[in-house]
Amino acid sequence: MTHRPPHLATRVIHAGQHPEPVTGAVMPPVFQTSTYAQPWPAQHTGYEYSRTQNPTREALERCVADLEGGTDGVAFGSGLAATHAVLAMLPAGGRVVCGDDVYGGTYRLLTKVMADRGVQTRFVDLTATPAAEAVPEGTHLVWLETPTNPLLRVIDIAPLVARAREVGALVVVDNTFATPVFQTPLALGADIVVHSTTKYLNGHSDVVGGLAVTGRADLAERLRFLQNAIGSVPGPWDCWLVLRGLKTLHVRMERHQRNRQAVGAWLRAHPEVVRVHDPLHPDDPGHAVASRQMTGFGGMLAFVLDGDLARAERVCASTKVFTLAESLGGVESLLELPALMTHASIPAAERHARGLDDGLIRLSLGIEDADDLIADLEAAFATSRDASLGPAPRG
Ligand SMILES: *Cc1c(COP(=O)(O)O)cnc(C)c1O
Repeated sequence: MTHRPPHLATRVIHAGQHPEPVTGAVMPPVFQTSTYAQPWPAQHTGYEYSRTQNPTREALERCVADLEGGTDGVAFGSGLAATHAVLAMLPAGGRVVCGDDVYGGTYRLLTKVMADRGVQTRFVDLTATPAAEAVPEGTHLVWLETPTNPLLRVIDIAPLVARAREVGALVVVDNTFATPVFQTPLALGADIVVHSTTKYLNGHSDVVGGLAVTGRADLAERLRFLQNAIGSVPGPWDCWLVLRGLKTLHVRMERHQRNRQAVGAWLRAHPEVVRVHDPLHPDDPGHAVASRQMTGFGGMLAFVLDGDLARAERVCASTKVFTLAESLGGVESLLELPALMTHASIPAAERHARGLDDGLIRLSLGIEDADDLIADLEAAFATSRDASLGPAPRG
């Protein structure tokens, strides 16, 4: 019998976890403790203090590392804390090349925090710029998200990895949107994968968390050091909740994707919809690369409706099944207006230059019934034609 590693659907449930040895508890216990008794000064069980080691956190780290095909996972208190720890590996004066359609908080961290430490970032359209031009000599780190947020453009990872190797740069991929169910960047040569576990990995909109995964021992050691040295660690309860969420990741992703397909087809056929950003569709510019690099397209969609920004605001305020909220990746469907919400920290001129229209509506398809989601949008489109609707009074 040939020995092959288990499939992803098995690993999301079992990877990195063993029944607890004392009681046989099937779920890893929540080790809600700050410190651990030592039998003798400086002799310990492998656990000294929970910023440095925590068994619940370690179970989560092992599981996500396994799903991404890495050796080490390093957990943080948020996706941005994970991003910050990765960027803290840069030398003073470090040079970063970053995709020009990234999470607003990543943009803010690079331009408002890392820039003050002398880190210079070039924002480049990595979907259209040849790798050699995008990544000049002297680059230390290439940061990319694919599919991008919110325009769902697709970046070809492999040529950027090849170019980064030539100039000695690290490649970091934020895999929050695709998840390891649909894309494993380490297998394409990326050095580090970052997640906001807040989103699909947890999947229930009840935790903020982050994680970095690598297959390189040197980077793992450095990230582990920074996790303890900077100290932005998640608590054991949050780790446990993400571990629980992970067990249904593959089932949720399939359903998110199915709903995305149904709502996408409906939007494309709708006479008032000007544009749908959806790499699943063969006409989409990202379709060819996505088909090669991903095994699915996930649960996110973005579209532009005929009319002005005010109409898009009225749509967002009128849905009953979709909740108007930032974030994504939960079982419940959300919608939002990036220009006023998640991407408001990017200056308007810059947003427009990147093709992010003010009226763009982003959908995170949950796992409800697709018919109800479509009926909800249909009703909101109709309500939004009434221009007398305005914002709710405050207070
Ligand atoms: C939400 C998000 C982040 C930031 O994660 P937090 O957990 O909110 O700190 C980073 N990247 C992407 C793609 C995200 O969607």
